[in-house]
Amino acid sequence: MLQSGRVGFIYSKHSQGDSAHMNWISNYVRPKINSMFSRREVPDNLWTKCDECGTMLFHRELKAAQNTCPSCDHHMHISPRARFEALFDGGIFTEVKVEEPQVDPLTFKDQKRYPDRLKDAKKKTDETDAMLVAEGEIGRTKIVACAQDFKFMGGSMGMYVGNAIIAAAEAAVARKCPLVLFSAAGGARMQEGILSLMQMPRTTVAVQMLKEAGLPYIVVLTHPTTGGVTASYAMLGDIHIAEPNALIAFAGTRVIEQTIREKLPEGFQRAEYLLDHGMLDRVTHRTKMKGELVSIIRMLMRDTPPIMGDLPKPTEEPVPEVAAEEA
Ligand SMILES: [Zn+2]
Repeated sequence: MLQSGRVGFIYSKHSQGDSAHMNWISNYVRPKINSMFSRREVPDNLWTKCDECGTMLFHRELKAAQNTCPSCDHHMHISPRARFEALFDGGIFTEVKVEEPQVDPLTFKDQKRYPDRLKDAKKKTDETDAMLVAEGEIGRTKIVACAQDFKFMGGSMGMYVGNAIIAAAEAAVARKCPLVLFSAAGGARMQEGILSLMQMPRTTVAVQMLKEAGLPYIVVLTHPTTGGVTASYAMLGDIHIAEPNALIAFAGTRVIEQTIREKLPEGFQRAEYLLDHGMLDRVTHRTKMKGELVSIIRMLMRDTPPIMGDLPKPTEEPVPEVAAEEA
């Protein structure tokens, strides 16, 4: 009905022109054919190949599994924002403001100027720096969370990351709730020199603030967490949980092998190996992380056990029995 109407409209519009028949072909048939073909074009970012097993994964399936492979359980990179959307109840969270430090105090330059590197990273990730801080509820339990982004200059710890951890710790103390930190880093940000190394004691003091307030500090170590980060805030948690197969190390395997002149065992510096050797408390699949965090936090906060599953939906209509009594 609608289509024939549209044809009629085109006919009447052009009926005074040259040939109505030509206009019908050029104005109606051709655009219709064009739109039919252009609509079939599939954007290439709908499918992602798993780096581990090579399975092609559809974007919806991948998002539902929080960027883990449903076939082999490989944990791929996830942005802090996507992680928070999956972590917080209903995907709702409030960002905690982080004080922005002075940009490029050393006027550092390697192949590129540091401000240019920062600009590129900001454009690539759409974030201010390598750490996102948020507050909200998980399983109806109040928390402050911060997550490091490996895609932002290798998640490197600079002054902004230091400020973010301090802001997160202060927010947790003010709200009397625990802090959950998701680490991912290649180490300190060399472009900030000694100032980046100073973030190790600064963040250690921030963690101490939580301990003095008697609030839990939980670290979730994700792939990869290395360098100065493992020499400070990432290893100071009350509980250490890691994602499966995450690389967690201070120095790389090759450096250690060259130093001690010995071959290191297989799986060395991986989450499961570290769990076996007492460096970690848990290794947990990303999709089960929320439930585990809720249980642990409620236990540490001496709260009632978490409610599993959702409460029934509120009924829209009044209960018939009550209505009858009132009548
Ligand atoms: Zn896979």
